[in-house]
Amino acid sequence: MATLEIKNLHVEVKDQEKKTYKKILNGVNLSMKTGEIHAIMGPNGTGKSTLSETIMGNPKYKVTEGEILLNGENLVGMPIDERARKGLFLAMQYPAEVPGVTNAEFLRAAINARRPKDNPIPMMDFIQELDKNLDLLDMNESMTERYLNQGFSGGERKRNEILQMLMIKPSFGILDEIDSGLDIDALRVVSRGVNAMRGANFGALMITHYQRLLNYIVPDVVHVMMGGKVVKDGGPELAKRLENEGYAGLRDELGLDI
Ligand code: ADP
Ligand code: MG
Ligand code: MG
Repeated sequence: MATLEIKNLHVEVKDQEKKTYKKILNGVNLSMKTGEIHAIMGPNGTGKSTLSETIMGNPKYKVTEGEILLNGENLVGMPIDERARKGLFLAMQYPAEVPGVTNAEFLRAAINARRPKDNPIPMMDFIQELDKNLDLLDMNESMTERYLNQGFSGGERKRNEILQMLMIKPSFGILDEIDSGLDIDALRVVSRGVNAMRGANFGALMITHYQRLLNYIVPDVVHVMMGGKVVKDGGPELAKRLENEGYAGLRDELGLDI
């Protein structure tokens, strides 16, 4: 079993123009382990993407206090690639284009980065696994020979993020708004991919603005973020409540002025 614990995390981001730092996360606490699916919900601009980028190690985000512990080891200050080797994966809200690197090349490199240097994945195993996952996600084989995310539609990018996760098999997948911009059919396919990974060796942190996604991927735990911190934890019923009441009901209950 693997664990991921966020303890009293405070994060600032640098404003490129003003050259000043802006405080975004104000003491986030969250604990999860493999075998569990957690959802983070929260209004726009509350710091959900900041949290996911910070867990993964994007250097734009500066941790000023607190810890991110993977199996008890503090990741703060560790580069992104090392965190990936240790079993973290981030499906980004806006996946970047990588011209010159095909999807298949990227996948093989990412898989091999997590294996011993003298034991890369055998080509046949790679192809078999790739075919299986392409099928699962209703993706065309030709997608794998295209440059990573270049000219991909929004829906293709999201499917491709899930393909990467299925192939890389991280201990923890952080999925930042994989539902945004997806129609119902694409949402079903993407959910099928995530649900296929459910099991003792995988945990997911699903970030979403809407409850809809959680009808397809039912979370074990729901966290609500507002004003840069987790303000409430609960089960799937908490997501349903938010759908009915919006965030206003919770703001009133907690007496929050944010
Ligand atoms: P969410 O994902 O919950 O919508 P974000 O983490 O994207 O929220 O953003 C939280 C706040 O931090 C917003 O006010 C946003 O404008 C600001 N912010 C996030 N990233 C950056 C950045 N790289 N540069 C400047 N401001 C940022
Ligand atoms: Mg947002
Ligand atoms: Mg976001």
